[in-house]
Amino acid sequence: MAIGVPKLEFGNEKNIKNQKSLWGGCGIHNDIQINALLIIAPPAVLEYVVVHELCHIQIRNHSPQFWALVADHLPDYKTSHHWLKQHGSRLMQGF
Ligand SMILES: [Zn+2]
Repeated sequence: MAIGVPKLEFGNEKNIKNQKSLWGGCGIHNDIQINALLIIAPPAVLEYVVVHELCHIQIRNHSPQFWALVADHLPDYKTSHHWLKQHGSRLMQGF
């Protein structure tokens, strides 16, 4: 399985609309997209989004198995998940 280098995408309107999630995406060719706004988020949050999208290469949905896989790599992922829920829209607007 080939894993490409994560590609940074600027969060323009077109990309945001096309992305399943505002913060990252995993395409059918396992191309990972990460919203560049995450550069100004806490490093742990950026790490969480990268791990989240990489886990989608293995599991393409948000089943309990998927979240267990994320937790395997980042036991504390819920803190970052919560941070994005709380501050994500402000991060979007502030750019
Ligand atoms: Zn996801």
